[in-house]
Amino acid sequence: MIVTGGTISMVQDSHTGALRPADLDTFRSFVEEFERSEVSITIRAFHPLVDSSDVNPPVWTKMAEMVYCEYDNYDGFVVLHGTDTMAYSASALSFMLENLNKPVVFTGSQLPIGVLRSDAKENMLTAVEIAAAKDEDGNAIVPEVTIFFEDQLLRANRTTKVSAEHFSAFRSFNYEPLAIAGVHIKYYPHLVHYCDTQLPLKLRTRTCTDVVVLHLFPGIAEATVRAILAIPNLKGVVLETFGAGNAPSDQWLLEALREATDRGVIIVNKTQCTSGSVEMGLYATSLNLLSAGVISGYDITTEALLTKMMYLLGESEGDMGSVKALLSTSLCGEMTIED
Ligand code: ASP
Repeated sequence: MIVTGGTISMVQDSHTGALRPADLDTFRSFVEEFERSEVSITIRAFHPLVDSSDVNPPVWTKMAEMVYCEYDNYDGFVVLHGTDTMAYSASALSFMLENLNKPVVFTGSQLPIGVLRSDAKENMLTAVEIAAAKDEDGNAIVPEVTIFFEDQLLRANRTTKVSAEHFSAFRSFNYEPLAIAGVHIKYYPHLVHYCDTQLPLKLRTRTCTDVVVLHLFPGIAEATVRAILAIPNLKGVVLETFGAGNAPSDQWLLEALREATDRGVIIVNKTQCTSGSVEMGLYATSLNLLSAGVISGYDITTEALLTKMMYLLGESEGDMGSVKALLSTSLCGEMTIED
């Protein structure tokens, strides 16, 4: 269990009422029930613990390295993480840990672990159970990077945080849950992404942050779009469009996008809708984007697209052709490409 920080790692100070980081014994006391059964757990914590708003690519690297270095020593990994950017971190690790064959389950909580009504205990204990779960042949049931929250086990790179209030804080709009935890944990193995077990785990932690999210809105000004596309060293743009991937048909917009793609900037079309897919060419307003060199992001989440772009641009050594090709390929179940 890797404790990185966030609300799940906080307790309320009995004197001041303020939240402060829990010590490791707090986590140990919650998981010691497991220790009496056949699951043994080692707890490692970040020093200092981090709020997930401060988590960035170097911190993703640290998490991925911790999994990689201990990969042969454990059957599964649980990452306790703040909920705010959990979907980004978990998506990033799904790309950084290539050929993963063991569960890496992210979880967190909406209320601190030291608060009476906290959702921390259930989330943490079920995440541990899922990380340790094996089928009758002794193979991990869900050997991919996932997020467990409330009662759903979701593929990490399909997941988005949707609520700052409800205990059910995450959704995967375009892919069914991999398991549902009720009285029993019901797994759906036919939905799980399996890697070739013969291939060794590869750690790929080079990232490039010369990327931007350009969220279109009615009335967006030419100067705004041109200023964003003129960012020095810009390499990748997540273009958040309307509906099935549509954009205003203003000539200046198409020219600005065309100029950027001609300079080698990769622009991917991602719908602002939470569910459904980009269908380029369905309307004239997205056909224009195709002719401006924009490629489809299909039904990917912004979190997965952004982290995938950072990872591909970081690992590509300047081979923009292969970055483009891989952005149009589902690497570990992050998108559904309809023919
Ligand atoms: N600010 C916290 C974080 O993301 C919120 C949480 O954990 O729910 O680190």
